[in-house]
This record gives sequence, structure tokens and C-alpha cells, in this order.
Amino acid sequence: EDAAPTAEPSAWLRALADHFTQSRADYDDLDRRAGDGDFGGNMELAFASSVTRAAGPDASLADDLRSMADAFGNDVGGSSGPLLGLVLTGLAEAVEDAGDGDLPPAVGEGLRAGMASVTRAGGAQPGDRTFLDALAPAVADAGTPLDAAAVQRAVDGAAATADLVGKRGRSSYVGDKAIGVPDPGAVALVQVLAAIVER
Ligand code: ADP
Ligand code: MG
Ligand code: MG
Repeated sequence: EDAAPTAEPSAWLRALADHFTQSRADYDDLDRRAGDGDFGGNMELAFASSVTRAAGPDASLADDLRSMADAFGNDVGGSSGPLLGLVLTGLAEAVEDAGDGDLPPAVGEGLRAGMASVTRAGGAQPGDRTFLDALAPAVADAGTPLDAAAVQRAVDGAAATADLVGKRGRSSYVGDKAIGVPDPGAVALVQVLAAIVER
């Protein structure tokens, strides 16, 4: 079968990819204050690759999450590619397993599994100024679904990273220079979680 020539992805994945293209410079700026300034470019590439890998406009959520997990894990460098790839892999597996079942609890379960993988791979805990500071408050307890209230907790957690000194990744090299600036990974993850809930 011929490779589909840049078929349009599902609407929610297109909207996310557009967000990360339009906000690339803003995310780069956040990362410049606490890292090396490439986070926006990494996200733009990750979503461009997710769109390329996507099955098409009618792809299931599980299929889209799998395309994103493969894109982040295989096509993007830095910390964010592989580590957000682990979150997306946990999500994709949980949603695949849920089949036609109830989605919000499956998504919550997948996020918790992804969080555990990220901690195993990267050693960060909540409080270290990473995207885990958005993810952990959203779905901390077993059985917590990903719903609008969980997204609000992620929003609050991402905002609170502005008061944190980095303990992992490049932000740990800049000390309190990053105070006042939120962690770009946390801000970006909020966008992904909100898009899943609103889709
Ligand atoms: P790099 O620092 O390699 O340039 P990116 O700019 O792509 O990586 O990604 C930076 C983001 O990665 C940070 O905003 C943070 O949220 C996340 N991050 C960095 N290190 C870790 C870690 N050990 N565990 C979880 N997230 C991390
Ligand atoms: Mg960076
Ligand atoms: Mg980098």
C-alpha cells in the first residue's frame, strides 16, 4: 500500500500540532530562562512527526496516542522527547486496553503508569521542577480519572513550578535564575491533557 501523502490527522491532534507551531518561540523562551532554549523546537518537531505518523482523520484516540508515543520516543531528542514519550506510551497502552470502556479512568491509569516510567528513567520526583509537577497533582491517586478538575490541578501545578528551583535536567544548573518562570515541560503537558479531555 502506498504511504498516505500527508493525510490530515484527527482534529484534536491537528489543533495540538498548530498550538505547538504557533507557540514555539514562547516555549523556547521559557526554556532559555532555565535551560538551553530548544524546548519549543523539540515540541514542534514532535507534533509534526506525530501528524506524519497519524493514521488519518478518523483515527481512534488509542491510535493517535500511539502515533504520538512513537514520534516523541523515536524522532525527538533532548529530555522531553524520550520522557514525554514514556508518558504517551503509558497512555496509549491504557487506552488500547480500555477498548470501548470508560475513557477518563483509563487515561488516568495510563498517566500514572507513564509517570512511574518517567521517574524510573529520569529520577525526578514531583517538586523537582519538571512536567511531573503538572502530572502528579492531576492524577496522583489510583482511580483518579483525567477530567476537567484534573486538568485544573495540572494548570495549578504547572504555574507553581515558577516558584521551584530545578533538581533535574538543565534547570538544575541555573539555580534560582529560573524563579518566576514556569517549567516549559509542565506548561506543555497541560496543553496535551486539556486537549485529550476536550476532544
Ligand atoms: P533538554 O533539557 O535536553 O534540552 P528539553 O528542552 O527538550 O530537554 O525538555 C526540557 C523539559 O524536560 C523540562 O521542562 C522538564 O519538564 C523535562 N525534564 C527534564 N529532565 C527531566 C527529568 N529527569 N524527569 C522529568 N522531566 C524532565
Ligand atoms: Mg531544552
Ligand atoms: Mg536540549
